[in-house]
Amino acid sequence: MTTNDNKKPQKVLATYALIALIAIFLLNIFVLPGLLERSIKETSYRDFLMSLDSHQVQEVQFDTQNYTLYYTIKVDDRVQTCKTGIMNVSDELIDRIYTSGADFSNVIPTQQSPLMNLFVGLILPMLVFFGIGILLQKWMTKNMVGGPGGAMSFGKSNAKVYVKSSTGIKFSDVAGEDEAKELLSEIVDFLHNPEKYREIGASMPKGALLVGPPGTGKTLLAKAVAGEADVPFFSISGSEFVEMFVGMGAAKVRDLFKQANEKAPCIVFIDEIDTIGKKRDGNIGGNDEREQTLNQLLTEMDGFDGSKGVVILAATNRPDSLDPALTRPGRFDRRIPVELPDLQGREDILKVHAKKIKVADNVNFREIAKAASGASGAELANIINEAALRAVRDGRRFATQADLEESIEVVIAGYQKKSRVLSEKEKLIVSYHEIGHALVAAMQNNSAPVHKITIIPRTSGALGYTMQVDDGEHFLMSKEEIENKIATFTGGRAAEELIFHSITTGASNDIEQATRLARAMITRYGMSDEFDMVAMENVSNQYLGGDASLACSAETQALIDQKTVQVVRTQHEKALQILQDNLSKLHELAKYLYEHETITGEEFMNILLRKPEGISDAATN
Ligand code: ADP
Ligand code: MG
Ligand code: ZN
Repeated sequence: MTTNDNKKPQKVLATYALIALIAIFLLNIFVLPGLLERSIKETSYRDFLMSLDSHQVQEVQFDTQNYTLYYTIKVDDRVQTCKTGIMNVSDELIDRIYTSGADFSNVIPTQQSPLMNLFVGLILPMLVFFGIGILLQKWMTKNMVGGPGGAMSFGKSNAKVYVKSSTGIKFSDVAGEDEAKELLSEIVDFLHNPEKYREIGASMPKGALLVGPPGTGKTLLAKAVAGEADVPFFSISGSEFVEMFVGMGAAKVRDLFKQANEKAPCIVFIDEIDTIGKKRDGNIGGNDEREQTLNQLLTEMDGFDGSKGVVILAATNRPDSLDPALTRPGRFDRRIPVELPDLQGREDILKVHAKKIKVADNVNFREIAKAASGASGAELANIINEAALRAVRDGRRFATQADLEESIEVVIAGYQKKSRVLSEKEKLIVSYHEIGHALVAAMQNNSAPVHKITIIPRTSGALGYTMQVDDGEHFLMSKEEIENKIATFTGGRAAEELIFHSITTGASNDIEQATRLARAMITRYGMSDEFDMVAMENVSNQYLGGDASLACSAETQALIDQKTVQVVRTQHEKALQILQDNLSKLHELAKYLYEHETITGEEFMNILLRKPEGISDAATN
């Protein structure tokens, strides 16, 4: 805190005291007497005597010093206090009041004490005002720390502070993500036993950056750290730094680190750090506010002493957009990947969340995990919840395997759209389309077998879909596998062409995916003869869908487009050939799907492998 900061509140306080004093005097002179007097009605002495004679007066009080007489009368059930001037209290008047039946007394001389008057009128309000003033000052100095303008609460970082167990989330609530948990528990351990590390001379990383796609549990992991560590935990979201007023974001950063330094050892968690940590691009007229906030963050991270035990965690799903200065060692020197869960991870996550609901004993979580390939932790949590909701809807006490299977589809493709009725012809086309995908996938032995095919329309707009199951986990894909995948995507359209000799709009999503794969083969995976191992595209946002930007000349672009078409066309022809070769199976399966609307992978394989009806063993081979 600078001296400048110290002076300001005092100046403010002096001004405040002056205003308070003036206010008190004005109140005393004009407002208060008026308020006291307002309720008392001034009457003439004659009115008083008349009321007295008509027995309306209830009580009389003499204030002989001020030559005043106060009396109360009852008008329409309401008691009204009146006053009137009086010369002196004669015995005759006393007699008259006495006979009217009213009560009477002399005024109790409270107002006569000048000391009391002074106290009530001046000193008491002053004390109250000063009390408020001091409170106000305390509050302001607290908020103004670092605030450039000192404008009330603007400079305050409204970081939420958690201490142990207030979040209630432990590492055990986070399933999978073992590497991330291991790295983070080291940090927790350091905060608990710094001596152990200091002896060797190791210093803790100042910051750790959790990166990964949305919904993989980054925020959850940070909360678990808060739950495990016995130290204060400041949590703030990057967007909270972004202020309407230039400079306020920086002030908030300063305040946050000041608080953290006071509370050390502690953990500071900045969620969605990309909102403030974006690369500074040098554009003139860029977002000045964000840049200032980032600069402040960089300065603060350099400024504090790592051995003190302030650890900064941050989470983002756009690590490539972060400013390199932010991610260099010494600031966020640890990068903790939080990836989409693998099969085992998915199963564990399902189990963790299933503890919160009632499930049947015979539920096979591995099967669910297999079917939900590619789902994030958040989606898996959602699947469990949807299953519970479905069970309630159907009046069951616990969720079953069927509930879980259905909810995978709900999460992936939306709810069943009961109102949409396909015409017979459309239903038939959709049946052939979906079987086309499945058959092409099944006949190329490298493609994963299907799990389920349905032609029940979904709220997502899909008229039907084929759910494929990855049996094992793949981390590498061969060129052949990608080609087979493209062929599978084209299989739906191929079936339509083959059977109906016409094409529909139903394949737009397939086309999109096939194109993306084919393009990636050429521009990114180096799988074409022309370009060898040259990258023609750069991918940004790998965790958010992966937008690609071309990095090549216009001629090359044209060539890439040609090559892409060529790859897809080859696979399309291959798919057509496969279907042509298995035409009877295509008809058989499509007919079955048309009748049943849903077909499981098992049924599919049974039909596919069973021998054609009416043909003896010898005839097949
Ligand atoms: P993000 O990575 O986008 O910050 P969150 O941490 O907010 O994701 O996760 C959202 C929700 O998904 C969590 O509240 C939790 O219910 C669930 N979830 C995600 N990953 C896991 C996991 N590994 N184990 C258990 N639940 C998880
Ligand atoms: Mg998050
Ligand atoms: Zn399709």
